[in-house]
Amino acid sequence: MTESKKFFIYTMGCQMNVYDTGQMENILFSMGYKKAATYALADIVLANTCAIREKAEQKAFSFLGRLAKLKNKNPELIVGIGGCVAQQEGMKILERMPQVDMVFGTDAIGRLPDLIRTVALENKRVVDIETAHKVFELGPVKIESSPRGISRFVTIMQGCDNFCTYCVVPHVRGREKSRDPFHILQEIKALTEAGVREVTLLGQNVNSYGKKEGLCSFVELLERINGTDNLLRLRFTTSHPKDLSSELINAYTYLDKLCRHIHLPVQSGSTDILKRMNRRYTRDQYLKKVEELRKISHDMAVSTDIIVGFPGETEADFSDTLDLIKEVEYDSLFVFNYSDRPKVPAAAMDGKISKSIQNERLQAVLALQESIAMKKNRAQVGMTLDVLVEGKSKKQNRKTETMGSNEDQWSGRTSSNRIVNFTADPQGVEGAGSFYGKIVRVGIEKALAHSLRGKMVEASSKPEGMKGEKDYAA
Ligand code: SF4
Repeated sequence: MTESKKFFIYTMGCQMNVYDTGQMENILFSMGYKKAATYALADIVLANTCAIREKAEQKAFSFLGRLAKLKNKNPELIVGIGGCVAQQEGMKILERMPQVDMVFGTDAIGRLPDLIRTVALENKRVVDIETAHKVFELGPVKIESSPRGISRFVTIMQGCDNFCTYCVVPHVRGREKSRDPFHILQEIKALTEAGVREVTLLGQNVNSYGKKEGLCSFVELLERINGTDNLLRLRFTTSHPKDLSSELINAYTYLDKLCRHIHLPVQSGSTDILKRMNRRYTRDQYLKKVEELRKISHDMAVSTDIIVGFPGETEADFSDTLDLIKEVEYDSLFVFNYSDRPKVPAAAMDGKISKSIQNERLQAVLALQESIAMKKNRAQVGMTLDVLVEGKSKKQNRKTETMGSNEDQWSGRTSSNRIVNFTADPQGVEGAGSFYGKIVRVGIEKALAHSLRGKMVEASSKPEGMKGEKDYAA
C-alpha cells in the first residue's frame, strides 16, 4: 500500500469499544495508514459497533447505510464492521449490506491485517467472528507521542461469565479472559511516559480478574499499578456487586492513587426483579456493600446503572428502585429503558412493559437523581478539593475567542469524579504555569447540577496521597 492511505473508525458503545478502537488504530498505524479527518476522506472505514441496546444497533446500520453511496462512487473503499453487532450478526451483515467488505468480531482485532489484505489484494469479502480463549496482545506497545488527553482506558479482561438475563455481552464477547499483568503494566508504563496521568482499568467484572488463568488477584494488580511512576490516579470499572470483596473495599484505605469512586451497577431496587435479572444479590446485600464502602470514607462516590421497565416490573418494584436511589444517594447514575435483545432469556419473559410506562419511569429516575446530585454538589461548596486538570474549560475557549481574559479558566475532576471548572490567576499562585495533567487544590465556590465551580488556591504536581478530601474512618 502507498503512504497516503487513510482510515476512519466510527466508535459506538462502551469504554471497552473505545479501548478496542485504540487497538485498531495502533494496528492500522503499524500498517502505514494515517488517520482521516472524516470518513469521506478515508480509504478504509471501520464501524466499531455496540449491541447492548436496540437503538445502538440501529445506529450502526444507519452509519453503514450512509457508506453505501461512498462505496458506489469509490469501489476501492474498504468498509468493515467490528464490535458486538458484527459478532452477533456475522454473515447476515454481508448478505444484507453489499457495501460491507469485512465483518470482524470482538476477538478478531488482532487478525485485522490479514483480513484487510484479503479484501484489498484478493478482492474477497470476509467474515471472522471466531472467539479466542486468550486476550489479543498487540506486542510491545507504541503510544503516539501526545496521546489524546491525560486519561486513558486500559482493558484488563474481556467477556463475562455472569449471564444476566437481559444482557448480550456473554453472547457476543464470550467468556471471561484476563490479560497478563506484565502486558497491562507495560502498557500503563508506556502511557505514563507519553503523558497520561490517570488510567481506568476496564473489565465486565474486575473482581474475577486472573482467577481462571491463575494470575494475580485484582487487588494485587491494583497494588502493582499503584507503584507506576508518574501515574497520579487509578480507577476501574466495573465491579459486579455480588463479587465486590472486602479485600477490594479495604484497598481504598492504602492505595494512594485509587480514586474515591466506584461504579456499582444495581440495575433494580427490587429483590424480585434482581432475581428475574439473574443478578445473584438481593437489595439488602447490595445496600450492605455500599455501607461497607462508605465506612472507608463518607465521601466515597458511588455511581450506578439502572434498567427501568424490565419484564414484570410492577409499580411496587419500581418504587423499591426509587427508594433505593434515595437511600444510597448516588453521585451519578445511568438509566436505560429495558429492550429485548437477541438470544437473551428476558426476551422470552412475560409481562413486557409498554414504552410509555418505561419512559415515565425513566423520567422519574432522572428527576430524583437530579435533586440528589444538586444536594450533594451543594455540600461541596466551601471545601478545598484536589483536582486533576484535564485542560482549559469550554468557557475559557469561548471567552478567548471573543474577548480574551486575565484569568485562566481550567477544567478537571476530583478523585470522586466530579467535574470542576475553576479560575486560576497566573500572577497570584505560586507554581502557576501550565496546570495540564497536574493535581491542584481548588476552593469550591458554586454548585451546579452536573459540575462545580471554584478558584485555585494551590498549584501542586504532587500525587494526592492520604490528604485533602479523603477522610478515613478509624
Ligand atoms: S455482569 Fe451481567 S450485565 Fe454485566 S456484562 Fe455480564 S452479563 Fe452483562
